[in-house]
Amino acid sequence: MRIDLHAHSTASDGTDSPAELVRNAADAGLDVVALTDHDTVGGYGEALAALPARLTLVTGAELSCRLDGTGVHMLAYLFDPEEPELARERELVRDDRVPRARTMVGKLRDLGVDVTWEQVARIAGDGSVGRPHIATALVELGVVATVSDAFTPDWLADGGRAYAEKHELDPFDAVRLVKAAGGVTVLAHPAAVKRGRCVPESAIAELAAAGLDGIEVDHMDHDADTRARLRGLAADLGLLTTGSSDYHGSRKTCRLGEYTTDPEVYGEITRRATGAFPVPGAGGRER
Ligand code: AMP
Ligand code: ZN
Ligand code: FE
Ligand code: FE
Repeated sequence: MRIDLHAHSTASDGTDSPAELVRNAADAGLDVVALTDHDTVGGYGEALAALPARLTLVTGAELSCRLDGTGVHMLAYLFDPEEPELARERELVRDDRVPRARTMVGKLRDLGVDVTWEQVARIAGDGSVGRPHIATALVELGVVATVSDAFTPDWLADGGRAYAEKHELDPFDAVRLVKAAGGVTVLAHPAAVKRGRCVPESAIAELAAAGLDGIEVDHMDHDADTRARLRGLAADLGLLTTGSSDYHGSRKTCRLGEYTTDPEVYGEITRRATGAFPVPGAGGRER
């Protein structure tokens, strides 16, 4: 069984539509894919409608959080998308992304870059707007060569010249809210140093005590030593460990299924979840 529990679509900052994402997941030989757009469940309907036979969809989201000034991403799986408190929090983060992106565009213009909000809005389309969309605009303008090259202190990195903060959740609140909505939480790429400061082990221990279910270990931004350290930490804290691609279509280099999650861990995630259930592609059956 090949299981990839972290992928983005055009509902946030991926480049595959939700329908393309599930088709590409099936073509990549995956049995299970999780749709984890930033702060939104907006891609669910299209992904479910297009779900190929033999592919199971795990619904989810990647919640933007902040702890002591450090950005933290919390993967949330199989929560009830209708649960009002968590839905409200997703909306608050999503809504704040627009004025925040406009602020970043303003900062770039002050730096002499001829980017406009209209350009960024066109790139983001219906998706929850984020820095990768602005980075794509910078690539279009020839300011940087790749999306990744825009994530430097000169441009969009945390604290960079054109960076602006957005409303984000306290990760302890995120764990509590997701659990209350019947979901399961996995701390995304906890040691991805190139994104800025990473989450201290003491904070991971506190989150574990507060009900965090797992941490993402096998991820492109973790080297072998980091993975070994995180595996040890998870064993000490009784946390599940996952592996995932964090696929963003053509906006990032990772491929669907490049990293995968152990079927036993996946089984445990599905057993713990009560807010929603994995949806198997119907194939030839009536839907
Ligand atoms: P935002 O939620 O708008 O702050 O943007 C966060 C997004 O930027 C996430 O999807 C990350 O994958 C992406 N990101 C962060 N750092 C980098 C990087 N160094 N290269 C490419 N994408 C990045
Ligand atoms: Zn993203
Ligand atoms: Fe992330
Ligand atoms: Fe992600």
